[in-house]
Amino acid sequence: MKETKRQLTLSIVFIALIFLILIGFSISAMQQISQKQKDKTYEFLTQMTEQYRTTINRQIQYNWETLQGIATFVEHSDLSEDKLMDILEKENANNHFMRMGYIRSNGIADLADISGKRMNQLDLNNMAYVKKVLSGQRVLSDTLKDSFGDGWINVYAIPVYQNNKVEGAICAVSDADSFSNIVDLPAMGVGYADILNRDASLVIRSAHDKINADSDVFDLSPLTDSERETFLTQMKKGKDGSFFYTYKNNEYLANYVPLSVNDWYLISIVPSTVISGDVTFITHLTILAIIIIVIILILLTIFITHIILKSRRQLEQIAYYDDLTNSYTKNKFEQEAIRLLNSDRKYSLIFIDIANFKQINELFGNQNADRLLIHIAKTLKQHLEKHEIFFRDNADCFGLLLHEQDPHILQSRMQVIIKEITSYELHPQQHYQLICFTGIKIIDSYREIGDLEVLMTRGMMALKEAKRSHNNHMNFYDQHLYEQMQQQIGIEQRMYSALEQEEFIIHLQPKYDVQSSRIVGAEALIRWNMGSSFLYPDSFIPIFEKNGFITKLDMYVLSHVCAYMQKWKAMGLPRISININQSRLLFYRENYLQRLSSIIDQYDISPERITLEVTESVAVENVEVLTDITQKLHSLGFHISMDDFGSGYSSLNVLQSLDFDEIKLDRIFLSGKDAQKQKKIIRKMIELCHSLSIATVAEGVETKEQYEYLKRVGCDTIQGYYFAKPMPVEEFEALLLKQMEEDK
Ligand code: C2E
Ligand code: CA
Ligand code: CA
Repeated sequence: MKETKRQLTLSIVFIALIFLILIGFSISAMQQISQKQKDKTYEFLTQMTEQYRTTINRQIQYNWETLQGIATFVEHSDLSEDKLMDILEKENANNHFMRMGYIRSNGIADLADISGKRMNQLDLNNMAYVKKVLSGQRVLSDTLKDSFGDGWINVYAIPVYQNNKVEGAICAVSDADSFSNIVDLPAMGVGYADILNRDASLVIRSAHDKINADSDVFDLSPLTDSERETFLTQMKKGKDGSFFYTYKNNEYLANYVPLSVNDWYLISIVPSTVISGDVTFITHLTILAIIIIVIILILLTIFITHIILKSRRQLEQIAYYDDLTNSYTKNKFEQEAIRLLNSDRKYSLIFIDIANFKQINELFGNQNADRLLIHIAKTLKQHLEKHEIFFRDNADCFGLLLHEQDPHILQSRMQVIIKEITSYELHPQQHYQLICFTGIKIIDSYREIGDLEVLMTRGMMALKEAKRSHNNHMNFYDQHLYEQMQQQIGIEQRMYSALEQEEFIIHLQPKYDVQSSRIVGAEALIRWNMGSSFLYPDSFIPIFEKNGFITKLDMYVLSHVCAYMQKWKAMGLPRISININQSRLLFYRENYLQRLSSIIDQYDISPERITLEVTESVAVENVEVLTDITQKLHSLGFHISMDDFGSGYSSLNVLQSLDFDEIKLDRIFLSGKDAQKQKKIIRKMIELCHSLSIATVAEGVETKEQYEYLKRVGCDTIQGYYFAKPMPVEEFEALLLKQMEEDK
């Protein structure tokens, strides 16, 4: 869950990061777009201004040229004033002027109106443009109020020379609207232009100019002092420029250029919304795109997280829950157990196991056996309390963690559970009494041990002990088991070095011929001289059987026995055969036969003098493997003995199918309760073996009575404390020597 939270946080951080990157990117992009747009607008505006200017200049130039033509004509023809006025009247009819006229050098003018009306003898001396034209300059007046109408006019005038002296001037009145028409042409849909004097007073105002609608002066109030200063200075210098301009919360962009006449300036203005319009649209579009991307990312993250969570749940189900019973797996149990043990240490670990589960599988089938397991899981679930857990390990082994440490309560709780488990009927017609083993480890020192694995091992040991003992199906882990375990650990740690340092010692137990009471052979039995202690095989052989070390030890025994036999040969001792125990594990080793041969060859020992002992249980366990191996051993020349015959579930079949040279009757025959019955069995066994040409050895003969009975029934050989206990090799050699001396 922690991991998932981390992933979620990561995803959120990831989205936030992408979001920030997108925002940053868009802001920068928008700034760039805005700048580009501004640049473009500037460019456009300057072009637009230029166009206005060219059109206006052209118009003025054209008007002047028209007047100039007339003036030149007048200069070269001697026209009367009346004639001149006629010509002007005619001319006026063909152009767009409102009226045309002649200004005499005294400032008195005659005008012919487009309407055909004549205005004669007008005194225009107070007009600035009249003074200017009579001084020899061609002029265009500022915009003036029309004295003969409501409108506004501009007057063009060109001087007329006679003998290099200004004699008068041709003038023409133009409707100020002719400029307005030009400046009114809307630019960019919403832009317009005004014509200003250099002091920013308005010459011609565009009809679109709402800002300066009520004024004769261009409104400079929205500009800051420095902006205004710059604007006016630039105009005074006849330079062009631009500025931003805010009016009624709307921003405008203005561009001004000088015109070619009268110090006039053309100023064109567009609202900056024209510029930002696109940018705003792009901004909105970008924000929308970002929102969509972020939503997609969020959905994607949710989707991915969902998939992660789902697959984790599935994985958890596989890893943490047993398929068949839906119990915890060992893994999950351990995780949960550690958590519980850390929070509260009053717990006990319990293992339960069904006796002969393999057999149940074979007898009742897998499905029925599976049902039993499900029944066990169900029973456990029912009887477990809060904060108690259980798991199923392999096959029929279940582990429980119970919140209890009182042995009596534990015992009674487990008895109830086991009663319910074992009351399960595997088959409606066939009653099978289920037996359940229980191993209990009270966890009194989890904090000190801190290792669940150790506790699990101890619980398992308690279970194994329960399986081993015949009368106690429920077993608590105790000091004795602990010591046993310590010893086992010690044994496994030391076994390799012990082999190297020859701590394993061979004792020999003589085998006696029943009739002659003479030593005819011996069995090699291993002991471990640890220095501080002397161990008998029962305490280490089972461990070696489990970890496989026994195969090394058996070969070690064979080598040493061969070495002794070689030595005896040199000493001239009688040739006897030696029995050597062979672990069943050897039969599964690939190079077993080669190893045997190479050892006896090394010491030059004849294989007939080695009798390999195989325990009866092997024969039952795997007849095919044993048949094969005995054949091969025989063909190499070894003798084979069946050890502990009668101790287990051996069948007489084994005798028939396997080729043994010797049978060792287990001690059990001699120590049984019903002596008479046992005796009969022994007698029959010996008879049977003889009929099959198998030699018989009676093991564990301790009394004279046993010996005499065996002698009577024809047993061949005897091995037991009655004659001799297993002894060190030197003692055995001494015995052999003594026997040799007696024979002499
Ligand atoms: P085993 O092969 O059945 O060996 C006979 C055991 O019976 C020996 O015990 C021996 O000391 C004991 N014994 C002999 N006569 C009497 C008697 O009159 N009364 C009683 N009560 N016991 C008697 P030991 O030496 O403790 O060996 C125990 C088992 O360890 C052996 O049983 C054998 O299975 C195994 N073992 C011993 N040495 C080896 C070995 O080198 N290799 C393998 N694989 N197993 C070995
Ligand atoms: Ca033996
Ligand atoms: Ca035996």
